Amino acid sequence: MRLYIEDNLAADRPVTLTAAHAHYLRNVMRAGPGDKVLLFNGRDGEWDAAIDSLRKNSGSALPRAQRRPQRDEPGPWLLFAPLKRSSQDFLIQKAVELGVAALQPVRTEYTNTGRINRDRMVAHAIEAAEQCERLTVPEVREIEKHTFLLENWPQDRYLLVCAERGAAQPIDEVLRAAPETGAWGILTGPEGGFASSELEQLRTLPFVRMVSLGPRILRAETAAIAALTCWQSVLGDWDDHRP
Ligand code: SAH
Repeated sequence: MRLYIEDNLAADRPVTLTAAHAHYLRNVMRAGPGDKVLLFNGRDGEWDAAIDSLRKNSGSALPRAQRRPQRDEPGPWLLFAPLKRSSQDFLIQKAVELGVAALQPVRTEYTNTGRINRDRMVAHAIEAAEQCERLTVPEVREIEKHTFLLENWPQDRYLLVCAERGAAQPIDEVLRAAPETGAWGILTGPEGGFASSELEQLRTLPFVRMVSLGPRILRAETAAIAALTCWQSVLGDWDDHRP
């Protein structure tokens, strides 16, 4: 049992469990006072702790000793157009497992935006971070127009634009040629794809690398997961295996 909490973590300083934690511990895990849990908050590393008290909608836990120190998890930002609910839940879970640092929903010309529920995205990001033993939960940002994001883009951060059609370089070629120290974003389009005018405009930006994921047209969530996988394999932390 591994929980993300808001409170600071220090030895023998009780932390508050939320109603969601209490529900999960009581009803899903059938846990009670005295049972062991692992806690992390994205700042103080991971802690061995025990459940102190547990009621229907609240509780507390007592951190005992730090098990892993905090460290940066500097993955790419994922910029994605909102998808239908089940695909988006799936995408968020997989993106967190694949180490994204931030989830940024974007609105493009063919984006259907009737479906954005930030609270649901945050809940899924937390659940995935708990499960995959991350030490941070990626930031979940508010939806923005892609034009706004590009105007304000940090010039020292590359942006891989997954282009389903038109001129683009194989993604692994681009990643292998890049400096190892760079910061990255990955942009995938909506189910309807990018408008050709959008692709033309993206192509002109100095930080953009137009990349191909092969000759087949992938679903948006497949494209995002495939691009993240390539990024992790070439530039990420897959050489840092857990003991
Ligand atoms: N309906 C569109 C396809 C959209 S696919 C069409 O028929 O053209 C959704 C998104 O996934 C695309 O905008 C792109 O970002 C990404 N994608 C899908 N297949 C890709 C590929 N082979 N290479 C690069 N990106 C791809």
